[in-house]
Amino acid sequence: VWGMDNHHYKLAVAGTGYVGLVAGVCFAEMGHQVTCVDIDEQKVAQMRQGISPIYEAGLQQLMQKNYDEGRIQYTTDYQSAYKDADAIFIGVGTPEKPDGSANLTHIATVARQIAESIENDCLVVVKSTVPVGTNDKVEQFIQDFLVRDVKVEVASNPEFLAQGSAVHDTLYAERIIIGTESEWARALLTSIYEPFDLPIVSVNRRSAEMIKYASNDFLALKISYMNDIANLCELVGADISDVARGMSYDPRIGSKFLNAGIGFGGSCFPKDTKALAYLAGQNGYELRTVRAAIDVNDAQKTMLYKKASERHITLNGLKIAVLGLTFKPGTDDLREAASLVNVPLLLEQGANVVAYDPVGMDNFAKLYPAGAHGNGTMTYASSSKEALDGANVCFIFTEWDEFRALSPAIFTEKMWTPLLYDGRNLFDIADMRKAGVEYHSIGRQPVQ
Ligand code: NAD
Repeated sequence: VWGMDNHHYKLAVAGTGYVGLVAGVCFAEMGHQVTCVDIDEQKVAQMRQGISPIYEAGLQQLMQKNYDEGRIQYTTDYQSAYKDADAIFIGVGTPEKPDGSANLTHIATVARQIAESIENDCLVVVKSTVPVGTNDKVEQFIQDFLVRDVKVEVASNPEFLAQGSAVHDTLYAERIIIGTESEWARALLTSIYEPFDLPIVSVNRRSAEMIKYASNDFLALKISYMNDIANLCELVGADISDVARGMSYDPRIGSKFLNAGIGFGGSCFPKDTKALAYLAGQNGYELRTVRAAIDVNDAQKTMLYKKASERHITLNGLKIAVLGLTFKPGTDDLREAASLVNVPLLLEQGANVVAYDPVGMDNFAKLYPAGAHGNGTMTYASSSKEALDGANVCFIFTEWDEFRALSPAIFTEKMWTPLLYDGRNLFDIADMRKAGVEYHSIGRQPVQ
């Protein structure tokens, strides 16, 4: 028996990416009956065989468990999934348009599909990150296309999971934000989240939409601030690692997100900073802080490439080891990764790039297959050591633990010239000096 009395519901989830699939699986884990919908037939076929289409720790096991226990299914048939759902969660993508604004095409498609399909009263919950005011429009849009005489309302429930720890972040979220415009919607959504036993912050729809952007952009700003200070540290002889350590004791600053590096990437910070700046512009306001975060990040991504280009007469014909392709460790996602900016620059210069990443190589090879690219070549190695073998230069773009665990001596042993550009500050300066590595990192004095 599904219903408010036992806090177990019939739910549908539109989109099975990082957000939708993880939400669907975690709802099932909490006892709800879940149908996940995607338009991608290949993905659905894969999930039906119990295979996760994305790499996330613990996800595949939870998929299997809830499938075996009969609480989750996967389909492309949206009509049957939506028609009698108590609530439909939307987790489709909202990528950035060339002008920086959010592309809402997928949201609109799902809204229309919902309007055509639903046969019962239903709460539509937008999990995707959408500009403030979008949920009002989604509700109007659904009502405009509604086929049957049923009640439908839209709620905002932005997602805060981080890729690489998505399942954990969902089951143990710091807070659930729900944005609603009626007591019915608030009570239903609260009841759906009841089994998670997590703090719920209930606000109106527009505030909920803004909480998501304000949170993401704050984090982006924190990263860009540290990178800005790091660049100054290098110029004035300070060390950003020590500076960050000193700052971290102040509880008003906090100890997290103080690592300087080669800039933020991923599917969220880059687009969410641009989308909020765009929204401000639309309203005649200039969001100067967020603009600055974007500008610093753009420059940060090629910081090490520029240093390497200045150090050598040419990169043409050099063997360049690239360690790390994904935008962060723990994920196979390449969106807005530093590698995607730097590898093309290296290939353009005629470098022979040998890349290694523990999980990101298949996705990268779809964009840059092994072989010639202009004057340069692209090769994939099966280990860090293989990538470093005979290399003239090494770049590190992702802070995978297995790179951090490399012994400094490996760079001198394996490389033709031990010349390391570390975009993630993985190594101790003193260790590198001792190992005889020429070491360039972010916000710290070079070892030459
Ligand atoms: P994604 O691109 O990984 O997945 C989107 C999925 O939706 C795809 O599988 C696609 O085939 C499917 N889809 C498209 N149209 C559809 C339709 N009409 N019906 C059913 N499925 C459809 O996206 P994602 O990374 O999960 O992000 C989704 C949203 O959540 C975005 O708005 C993003 O900003 C937000 N978000 C993402 C993260 C993150 O870490 N990835 C975190 C918080 C919020």
